[in-house]
Amino acid sequence: MTQTISENSAQTETVYIGLGSNLSEPGQQLQNARLSIAKLAGIEETGYSSVYTSPPMGPQDQPDYLNSVMAVNCTFSAQQLLKQLQDIEIQQGRIKTRRWGERTVDLDILLFGQQHINQTDLTIPHTGLTERAFVLYPLHEIGGDELIIPGYGKLGQLMQTVPLNGLTRLGETGNEN
Ligand code: ADP
Ligand code: MG
Repeated sequence: MTQTISENSAQTETVYIGLGSNLSEPGQQLQNARLSIAKLAGIEETGYSSVYTSPPMGPQDQPDYLNSVMAVNCTFSAQQLLKQLQDIEIQQGRIKTRRWGERTVDLDILLFGQQHINQTDLTIPHTGLTERAFVLYPLHEIGGDELIIPGYGKLGQLMQTVPLNGLTRLGETGNEN
């Protein structure tokens, strides 16, 4: 008997997603977003970092941030995933404010396999990834020294050029203290 595999033949990529929040119980916001992402049809969670806290990057008159990074196997295209993540941001009440302003949840596609993507609404590797401690350190926790950042080389080496800048590791959920 011939077996049809068409429904399962989409390519699977290893994808890293950055999660951030500094409003409305940030620890809870990260947990809710993680659960929503893991439930998406084209996603299988394979890793999740500790939660880290750091002072805001942009305007200083806003609360500190919580950040984490999630690793997934993904059968969506990068554009499909972006749309799904934006829907989750909206579900969790994200409102556009000033640049680098406060937000209930920010979901960024950090890496999409080894792909370089330069589209008007989608840049991968994510802009600033290589300079931001709150992305690099949680990414390193689950990706390790050997993870290749396309165009930049190994994560272990890249991290040595980026100081912690006030980044502190909290724990599994960020709600522990
Ligand atoms: P930031 O994450 O830099 O604080 P925003 O979340 O407000 O900024 O930016 C949202 C915009 O960023 C969206 O319109 C989206 O199209 C664009 N964008 C570009 N590249 C990515 C990416 N890799 N992941 C998520 N959003 C991206
Ligand atoms: Mg974003």
